[in-house]
Amino acid sequence: MTGNFTETDERKALRSAVADLGARYGHEYFVAKARAGEKTDELWAEAGKLGYLGVAVPEEFGGGGGGIGDLAAVCEELARAGSPMLLMVVSPAICATVIARFGTEEQKQRWLPGFAEGTTKMAFAITEPDAGSNSHKLTTKVRRDGDEWVLSGGKYYISGVDEVQAVLVVAIGPTGPVLMIVPTDAPGLTFRPIEMEIVSPEKQFTMFFDDVRLPSDALVGSADAGLAQLFAGLNPERIMAASFATGMALRALDKAAEYARTRSVWGTPIGAHQGLSHPLAHCAIQVELARLMTQKAAALYDSGQDRAAGESANMAKYAAGEAVASAVDLAIQVHGGNGLATEYGLAQLLTASRISRIAPVSREMILNYVAQHTLNLPRSY
Ligand SMILES: Cc1cc2nc3c(=O)[nH]c(=O)nc-3n(C[C@H](O)[C@H](O)[C@H](O)COP(=O)(O)OP(=O)(O)OC[C@H]3O[C@@H](n4cnc5c(N)ncnc54)[C@H](O)[C@@H]3O)c2cc1C
Repeated sequence: MTGNFTETDERKALRSAVADLGARYGHEYFVAKARAGEKTDELWAEAGKLGYLGVAVPEEFGGGGGGIGDLAAVCEELARAGSPMLLMVVSPAICATVIARFGTEEQKQRWLPGFAEGTTKMAFAITEPDAGSNSHKLTTKVRRDGDEWVLSGGKYYISGVDEVQAVLVVAIGPTGPVLMIVPTDAPGLTFRPIEMEIVSPEKQFTMFFDDVRLPSDALVGSADAGLAQLFAGLNPERIMAASFATGMALRALDKAAEYARTRSVWGTPIGAHQGLSHPLAHCAIQVELARLMTQKAAALYDSGQDRAAGESANMAKYAAGEAVASAVDLAIQVHGGNGLATEYGLAQLLTASRISRIAPVSREMILNYVAQHTLNLPRSY
């Protein structure tokens, strides 16, 4: 993004190329995979081969050397084309960013080229059943035992555990939170799916760590700087989650506007009725504002301003979550009965769009953040 709020020609070209790829797969492909209990492996592999998953990975590790703004554009375009992928928010964004910024040379060599090519995926696990939004209450612990680490505890709602090679786990170490790379085949690690009403090939899991032994180099970064490192990964997560949401919102709006232009029951297209056109226009404004805030957050993050990016990334995620919830609800309304029919591909977005109000951080926790940090109000909890 440049100072005059336009995207560079390079970013626009990236968007259009990703949109072409997305169109070749489309929402039918995504839904068919979800219903068959399969993964969108072909799309992921092709996006990797074309360099889209690795746009933000440093060039020396096989990536495009771009920023989170580029990766967010990829995520948004794929969601707009009908394939909203949560693992894009996790693997090439949080995990790749944290390893690129804080990993050892060896960890970078081991993981980054695979993230860039799309041949390696990593999940991210912070949420715990008893802690929920309160990350101060995390109880998953990791302790030293000679040359090794021993991990015990559990996580819930972790996306994609069944399709990744490893999970980046937030655990409480000897002096505070630390980030550990945990291979999914490590002895003592078990996981099971949570039955969800979301139509997506990506599933959520409960994870258990029963004294999982990890090598010394499982730790990412320093054992003392856990929190700062963690927050550096959470800004990209929020920017990506916002783009996941705005992409889906744009898709819903595109479909709603198209239907409102063509469906006619009183002699004029239904889109001529202000009962529909005004809410649609309102929604278009909401989505565009959320996209603008997301671009601001990405520009701040990419210019190294972690703190300022934190506020913007939270605001962007909030705005995008609200925008997509309204857009999908409205698109269904505009379609009348067709809005709930499988064929129109909108009802499946209902639950998926609601993710954006809950994860990775809920709307209420963002409002708390803004109340305390932007407005300097006292906290109630
Ligand atoms: C589809 C999906 C995928 C996910 N993927 C991952 C993943 O890959 N990795 C991962 O670590 N986690 C993941 N999560 C978990 C997600 O981050 C959490 O669900 C979210 O942070 C909220 O935590 P919780 O569900 O425990 O809700 P709770 O913390 O129990 O909150 C319940 C409600 O109370 C509200 N609330 C809580 N505290 C306050 C307060 N102080 N003030 C006002 N309201 C409050 C919340 O906003 C929410 O509305 C995923 C969740 C979903 C639904």
